[in-house]
Amino acid sequence: MTKNWMYQRRRSALIDDLREKGISEERILEAMGRVARHKFMEDALMSRAYEDEALPIGLKQTISQPFTVAYQSMLLNPEPDEKILEIGTGSGYQAAVLCELGARVFTIERLGPLFDRTAVLLKTLGYRAVTRLGDGTRGWESVAPFDGIIVTAGATDVPKKLLDQLKLPSDGRPGGRLIIPVGGSESQKMLRIRRTGKETFETEELDGFRFVPLVADS
Ligand code: SAH
Repeated sequence: MTKNWMYQRRRSALIDDLREKGISEERILEAMGRVARHKFMEDALMSRAYEDEALPIGLKQTISQPFTVAYQSMLLNPEPDEKILEIGTGSGYQAAVLCELGARVFTIERLGPLFDRTAVLLKTLGYRAVTRLGDGTRGWESVAPFDGIIVTAGATDVPKKLLDQLKLPSDGRPGGRLIIPVGGSESQKMLRIRRTGKETFETEELDGFRFVPLVADS
């Protein structure tokens, strides 16, 4: 059996596992079924790429657990061509899934070595995410407003700048949404916040998760 074939089989077993764990959006599962997660981690861990686990990617950071990526993608539910901002590029895996869903992806990472490695990897794999090095809690003013923003690190509160950079509702279209885990260092609650007006937002509080911390530059 060739290695590629082996990875493909493990990947489809993972997708079945995610479906059983409650991920019901076939679009999301299909997109994840097209992303070679093993290419987003170091060689030593590749054999574990299709376990439903977060794994280390260096610098004390992790590639998110596939269930978490599926869950956040399902909440965000990006339509093709929507403008999406991701905070916390990390390995690039979540960004690749968003690209597979047809979104126009902008992604920010604060750690130089991870940014450098992942920017090259995404290009090499043909994912057209626009990458940026910096503090994502400030958003990306020159590209805003966004249809959706997804934060893949645990925040202690909701950065105001991210709320400001969500699209306003217009012409019967709903406003932009922000998917963000908020809480302490041990666990965070996933929030889905939708902009309903200039200064008004609607917040849903969902399940608990444990992310690496969102670190704002002072
Ligand atoms: N989406 C990633 C998850 C990586 S873990 C993946 O699919 O692999 C979270 C990442 O957020 C880490 O790489 C961390 O360095 C980054 N991060 C933390 N605080 C940040 C901030 N303020 N701005 C941008 N990136 C941040």
